[in-house]
Amino acid sequence: MEKSEEAVRTAQRQQDDVKFPPRWETEQASLAAESGLALLLVEGHQPPQLLTSNNNSICQTFQTSTAHAHLCDPYCGEAYKRAQEAGGASYYRCHAGFECFAAPVELRKGRRLAVIGGRAFLSSADYSALVERFRDGDLRDLLSPELFRNVLFATRFELERLERMLQEAAEEVAAHAPRARAATADAMQPTLLDEELEALDAELFPTGVTLEEASQRVLYTLAAAHGLKSLALYVRRDDALAAVSATGDFKVSAPHVSLRRAAAQNGHARAHADEASPARDRLDFDAKEVTEIFPLAVGDEIAGALAVGGAALDEESRRLVSDYCDKLAVPLELLSLREELERRMRAAYHLQSFTEQIGSADPDEAYNTILRHSTELLRSERASLLLYDEAANELQVKAAVGPRARVTRDARVPLGEGVSGTVLREGRPLVVRDLASAGRKPAPAERKYKTRSFISYPLLVGSRRVGVLNVTDKAGGGAYDELDLNLIDLLAPQMALALDRAEWHQKATQFQLLSITDALTGLLNRRYLEERLGEELERSKRHRFPVSFLMIDIDNFKEYNDRHGHQAGDIALEMTAQCLKAALRSADVASRYGGEEFSVLLPQTSASEAQVIAERIRQRVERTPFAHRESQPGGAVTVSVGISSFAPKVDTPESMIGAADQALYLAKSRGKNRVETYSPAHGSSPA
Ligand code: GH3
Ligand code: MG
Ligand code: MG
Repeated sequence: MEKSEEAVRTAQRQQDDVKFPPRWETEQASLAAESGLALLLVEGHQPPQLLTSNNNSICQTFQTSTAHAHLCDPYCGEAYKRAQEAGGASYYRCHAGFECFAAPVELRKGRRLAVIGGRAFLSSADYSALVERFRDGDLRDLLSPELFRNVLFATRFELERLERMLQEAAEEVAAHAPRARAATADAMQPTLLDEELEALDAELFPTGVTLEEASQRVLYTLAAAHGLKSLALYVRRDDALAAVSATGDFKVSAPHVSLRRAAAQNGHARAHADEASPARDRLDFDAKEVTEIFPLAVGDEIAGALAVGGAALDEESRRLVSDYCDKLAVPLELLSLREELERRMRAAYHLQSFTEQIGSADPDEAYNTILRHSTELLRSERASLLLYDEAANELQVKAAVGPRARVTRDARVPLGEGVSGTVLREGRPLVVRDLASAGRKPAPAERKYKTRSFISYPLLVGSRRVGVLNVTDKAGGGAYDELDLNLIDLLAPQMALALDRAEWHQKATQFQLLSITDALTGLLNRRYLEERLGEELERSKRHRFPVSFLMIDIDNFKEYNDRHGHQAGDIALEMTAQCLKAALRSADVASRYGGEEFSVLLPQTSASEAQVIAERIRQRVERTPFAHRESQPGGAVTVSVGISSFAPKVDTPESMIGAADQALYLAKSRGKNRVETYSPAHGSSPA
């Protein structure tokens, strides 16, 4: 019967449309939840995707943005194609610095799909670099709190582990096999790591021991067995080695040991680290010389290192220490991974809630939010936040928590002096494990610290100094180490950004008292504009950003006023201001320069981009149905626009404005209702 044949064909077609078994949906979601990483099932170009789990909010923002989505095209966009071509997982690092893999999967026979996994930062440096682009670079227009709602971090180990688990899950789903491993939620990584840990030398590290305890135990064992005094133990974090425990001369502050150096020591040709990315830069504080380095190698990779100071070891001791390090490497690595995971979860939580709470532009609230999150994240009982005053070249304590907090507030420190002043001048953080071991009197400001271990961290926006965050008195009395530093690394860009915003807000409030807006048009006034122009030019000089400036004047406006009255003139001015607002981006600064002249500051905008914007303004005014427009030449109210752009001799507010004025004059003399750009060839110098 024809009808039933048709029904069978329809059913068949529908069956063909099912690209993956429904069961995959829960499998993928639970893999993403377990790993804390993003997973996207794709067929062809991405976006779109068939199924998304735990997407990174930054990726989501990119891919829904019309202006920036193309940046992702060569990476996630082509991931499906690469996975099919490779016939196996292909790893890549995208423009934003995220590490991903694309793995081909066939969940239903004949349906070649792929899964994109990861979308996570492997290093906090990558995160900072991206935040900087949002803050002050090419991605400024994407900056919003939503952006940071779900930012993902991972280690390479976790990424590779997720890929293996994904392949297993895909095979099982394709074969309709029941899942062998325990149902998702119980299979959290720490548990798996625990099992692996237990299976290893139980004597070396009893279960439940923390990384800090374990590393201390190691150092005491070595010190006792070989009569070694100064020792420091490091674990790998990102592309650097971080000290987790130290004794003797290294106790104050462990010396810096590069991955490359540790690898070379073992005759390992490669440390699997990017040679190009240098170990994190920090301030050494009384660190003593290292005489010997023993790498902790897991397979081909450096998982950590042991540094020995003082007298050189004899052959026999060297062999024994080296054997011990070989035995130590894997258990320490597993312990370190487990702890890193726990830290990262804590950091991710704080990053998210910090972003949610920092919305307030009230400076005091911003300071307190920063301190609250820093102290919680680092389990510190005492902290202070100092802000840099560029004019006075000094730091001022803006907020403090813990004992003597009230006394500390408003204290001032010149740049380059004291711990905070030095840290800010050098632009590098300082971790002091034990101040008392320094064998000298600590500076007065650091007196009465409970634990004598602290971190002093410079807050910077690009190369601009914003302030310093100090934390000390770790709850429980432990010492701060470089892993704690890594935690601040994650929050620091957000903190600097929030402080910067609060500072601007405060400035705006001060200006408001002097009135920064023009009553008739609601635009900013000339005083504000000139101030902002100065700041924007300074920024351009530092970061080599372009800046452009527009001077706009209504054509034949005297006549319009004379013919239709001052009131009609005022209405026309308001309408022109509306045209400006409508034609500009949120970062642009429009002002009423005076009378019927307007000006627009275009931060990070080249002359050619400024021409597009100026033309947009000109056309919008021309097309707006002003009252009495028919009486104007050409039957419309029009404007002329002069453009100037930051250049060697056009680098002060006066010369920028002068140059735009000259270009405006040119536009008027060439017939009005047009846009002209200043060029030195036009004659006189702009100022
Ligand atoms: P051009 O095309 O060369 O710019 O000719 P113009 O007539 O516009 O000449 P100019 O820019 O010198 O004219 C300024 C006129 O703008 C003078 C005044 O009548 C009018 N004007 C200035 N400020 C105001 C104001 O606040 N309200 C009103 N209604 N008119 C103003
Ligand atoms: Mg004028
Ligand atoms: Mg005019």
